[in-house]
Amino acid sequence: MSRSTAARLIRPAVCLAAALALLQTPARAQLSANELGKIMILEYHQIAEPEARWARTPANLRRDLERLRERGYRLVGLNDVLDGRFSLPAGTSPVVLTFDDSSPGQFRYVDKNGRLEIDPDCAVGILEAFARAHPEFGVTATFYVLPGAAQPHRLFGQPEHEGRKLQYLVSRGFEIGNHTLWHANLSKYPEAVVRKQLAHAQQWIQRLVPGYRLRTLALPMGAYPKELEWAIRGSVDGVSYHHDALLQVAGGAAPSPFSRRFDPYRLPRIQVVESELAYWLRYFEQRPEERFASDGDPATVTIPRARRAELRELGGRNLRIIQRD
Ligand SMILES: [Zn+2]
Repeated sequence: MSRSTAARLIRPAVCLAAALALLQTPARAQLSANELGKIMILEYHQIAEPEARWARTPANLRRDLERLRERGYRLVGLNDVLDGRFSLPAGTSPVVLTFDDSSPGQFRYVDKNGRLEIDPDCAVGILEAFARAHPEFGVTATFYVLPGAAQPHRLFGQPEHEGRKLQYLVSRGFEIGNHTLWHANLSKYPEAVVRKQLAHAQQWIQRLVPGYRLRTLALPMGAYPKELEWAIRGSVDGVSYHHDALLQVAGGAAPSPFSRRFDPYRLPRIQVVESELAYWLRYFEQRPEERFASDGDPATVTIPRARRAELRELGGRNLRIIQRD
């Protein structure tokens, strides 16, 4: 007897609820593998009340995670996307979460009867609770932090816990990214200032998490310095920085890292305001063939045969290409 038949016989109320849920969320056929499809890199700022242009409420962040999960998205780290490393079940899609500006609602400790706990309403608390309820969804995100900003934006706004927070993030598989020292608009400054902003941010993080390299830079306000190279790599007073990717503040879904269209120095993101997120969820519902869908095997790259010409050179990666019809 199928589960749904049993439910109908034994628990009509549950069955009705399930039917209503199905009406709201039409059953989805599993996506065919397409590792040339696009990937959403979502961009959050404050997690706080009330909902606003630069703030998502805790309840809405939870709801975002649920909407992503039920549509077959799974969290992956940005660094894994850059490395072309996808360990996801077949037919699921990667999605990347990024949090800019290290405001308190992203990561807050609260004192509970003398014990320090992660606030269940901050982004880290919400992500971890969601992963406990839905382990298949995964738990990771990249935090673009500001080590030299004025409070409350300096490393999440609790000076006594700065080091503990960064170390916790790294120990749990979250990523830390460069967002300059204090949110400098890099288009406005000469080379020496640009490089200092990037190297000093790297130095600050390494003081708190020895050896940690910031692999990606989210450009404040999406502004590029006059020379691209200044943002990619350099060295100031013996401290070097090297970014494998530069992130913009808008631009839509990102090309697959296996696509010729993928430019790690111009990675677009999707800002999470309700209208934008709803647009992109609907976009991929209506165009499932444009969405990155995993083949379930990290060692292979499965692509539609008709899109063969879009595949970029994957030299040195030891990945096997599978073409499907
Ligand atoms: Zn910012």
